[in-house]
Amino acid sequence: MKNITITIDVEEDCPPMLTSTRGMEEGLPKLLDLFKKEEIKATFFVTGIMAEQYQNLIDKIPEEGHELGCHGYTHARFDRMETEEVRIALRQAGKVLRKFSKRLVSFRAPNLRFPAKYLKLLEDEGFLYDSSLAAYKPPFSQSIVKDKIVRIPATVTSSFLRLPPGLFVPLLKHLKAPVIFVHPWEFVDMSALPIRLDCKFNTGEKALQNLKILIRASKTENCLFLTLEERASLEKTEFLAR
Ligand SMILES: [Zn+2]
Repeated sequence: MKNITITIDVEEDCPPMLTSTRGMEEGLPKLLDLFKKEEIKATFFVTGIMAEQYQNLIDKIPEEGHELGCHGYTHARFDRMETEEVRIALRQAGKVLRKFSKRLVSFRAPNLRFPAKYLKLLEDEGFLYDSSLAAYKPPFSQSIVKDKIVRIPATVTSSFLRLPPGLFVPLLKHLKAPVIFVHPWEFVDMSALPIRLDCKFNTGEKALQNLKILIRASKTENCLFLTLEERASLEKTEFLAR
């Protein structure tokens, strides 16, 4: 059966271009509502800082049956950190996020950049799954099991989902098990802000409508909606059976 994983990187608005948090205040509640109405589960990769600032909202993630994952402590890039800084950031984020959910095993680095040499540190901090690779840009990564960490690449970038549905729905049908990723700020109208065009086009209601169309299209294909943890453990089982 085909499966799909929807992931949300929960952070300030369009980092590092903005520091506002309208996505947290307006976008995240809309996403939680949509997933509740559609009765689907998703994985939310949250930064430690946003979890500290928006405790009531972050509480809802595990409460409503979604997976809580880690997106670093701040949105600083891990590929620009020294080993010790990486360890501190992972530990700080883990400490905050485990107050919301004792089970915290999935990770995605900001900007989808996490050097392989740091995977051991993820393992040391209790993580099992990493979704910091991208399948849609070079080197077009595929899922891999490296040491204990299973790496599941994101396959569909968020701006792709803001194109007209007539374009993205047929393309999605060709993907066996897409890992979609979006951000709460995309569900707030960002069109008037001085940010890159690919960050702001079709943000707001249109983006929400598109996500709903994607969910409905996946349902008509009888897709299973898996969290990243569910998806990764499935891949690990298949990998070990090879
Ligand atoms: Zn991010």
